[in-house]
Amino acid sequence: MSQAPPASSHGYDDLAYLPYGVGHSDEGVCLLVRLGPYRVLLDCGLADISPLLKAENPPADLVLCSHAHSDHARGLLALRQAFPQLPIYASEVTTQLLPLNWPEVDTKDIPQLCQALPMRSPVEFQTGLAAELFPAGHLPGAAAILLTYTAPQRTYSLLYTGDFFLSNSRLVEGLPLEALRGLEPDVLIVEGSYGTARHPHRRNQENNLAERINQAIAGAKSVLMPVPTLGLGQELLMLLRSHHLFTGQNLDIWVDGNVAAGCDAYLELLSSLPSSVQNFARHQSLFWDERVRPRVRRLPPEQRSSIGKSPCIILTDESHDLREYCQPGTGPWVLLQPQQRRNMAMPYPYSLTTGGEALIAQDYLLAQHSDGLGTTQLIHNLRPQHVIFVHGSPTYLADLTGLEELHNRYHLHSPGAGTLVELPIGETFVQPAAPETSYEGELSELGAVVTITLPEAIALDPRFTNFSDTGLVEARWQGEELVLRGLSQRELLSQSSNAKVPLSIECCGNCLHQRGQRCWNQDSPLYGFKVTPEGYCPVFETAHPATTPSDTDLESLEE
Ligand SMILES: [Zn+2]
Ligand SMILES: [Zn+2]
Repeated sequence: MSQAPPASSHGYDDLAYLPYGVGHSDEGVCLLVRLGPYRVLLDCGLADISPLLKAENPPADLVLCSHAHSDHARGLLALRQAFPQLPIYASEVTTQLLPLNWPEVDTKDIPQLCQALPMRSPVEFQTGLAAELFPAGHLPGAAAILLTYTAPQRTYSLLYTGDFFLSNSRLVEGLPLEALRGLEPDVLIVEGSYGTARHPHRRNQENNLAERINQAIAGAKSVLMPVPTLGLGQELLMLLRSHHLFTGQNLDIWVDGNVAAGCDAYLELLSSLPSSVQNFARHQSLFWDERVRPRVRRLPPEQRSSIGKSPCIILTDESHDLREYCQPGTGPWVLLQPQQRRNMAMPYPYSLTTGGEALIAQDYLLAQHSDGLGTTQLIHNLRPQHVIFVHGSPTYLADLTGLEELHNRYHLHSPGAGTLVELPIGETFVQPAAPETSYEGELSELGAVVTITLPEAIALDPRFTNFSDTGLVEARWQGEELVLRGLSQRELLSQSSNAKVPLSIECCGNCLHQRGQRCWNQDSPLYGFKVTPEGYCPVFETAHPATTPSDTDLESLEE
């Protein structure tokens, strides 16, 4: 790996990117960017920082850390020790949470591990080089980092999202999209943890998980939940403390290991948490509470082996050997693990054999990152020239770079560690128009009827008159997506003329793939075109199975 993105032949006035770790699997995130003459290291989540130590000199002029999760921060201590003069910056809250990454080290002994930067207030580090932090959701203190470099001819800008989440979760507000809308950075480095996957509404995810935990407890099982030190565990505690299925229940929730230290750290940050959380904390303790049910307590290590004789919930470190719990005479147990661990191909380092006690392992979704829709929404709102995807399995990132709505608007990159990318900035680059806004609707199922409720903005759109003209809609599947379209008067008339073609004739009028006088068969040369009822192509398939003589052909079609 080369030491740093080299300056381009025509001078310093441009941008380059060299990742040391892009968050594939568990490699961590560590990204070097060059803006003109300056080199900035974004995050240092490498478990082993030796690639950064190849030269005598620090690998960058300064380091910015997006948030306190270990996959973004665990290399910072070693980096500080290797280069005492290298400045490291993060938000105030991140600065407070960072020491949890090294529970065995007293970081008070390390002078200036990290300097705090304010949110939403640009800071100039060196002539022409400045940064501004924006809250990114995801974790208290998490920041998206806007870097700008002002050259004589123009100002260059690069936004790094870190891990981000557009939705509000219980202990942190979502990334405020309106603060960044229309920013038009030259380069956007964005996480793609969930690829193009689409998630149910956060409230549904919470209710679904709460119901499953409740069912386990009602079935006399204990629930074991391994979580990271920060973020998910505290979210779960807040959920269990405030969800109607649990409030008032005579139930013990035990918190073990570094997760408990994470809770203590949150209590120190109370004034930075959302006002709803501060209100809650005015009436009862946020985490540690032995009086209000369900009770939340620290698990003393000597009780690990005996816990679970009656149904309870344990939150513990994901690195903890779970066989320490689940001892004979306890359980049965349900192990609930966050789905994302599986998606990111990060298996737990223990086997599920537990001394013979019944243990059922399941996973759940309580997302801490935006889904595919959130990711594309952010990109379209920012409208950058270059988009670089990091953080997530290579397949998921490839799903994102494969999206037509992205690659026909932006330059997309998702290189692995060690690959240098030059980022030429076109002066004449025309910012593409953002795609149309999409609206969220609601479904309700009553017996065999599904009612779809759409927001007023749809009904007020002048196009809706045409859509609803006949009062008839057509619904059909396009892969996993359900497509709705209104049927116009003209189409109704021409459909009835279709019926004049005898059913036995192989033609577009009788083809399964012809709807609304258009061909929808991707294998057909007529795909997407308007077709006449008498038209024909070699991939005809009948829409009227009863009239065809060969049933075997149809069976093979259905597979
Ligand atoms: Zn994170
Ligand atoms: Zn991360």
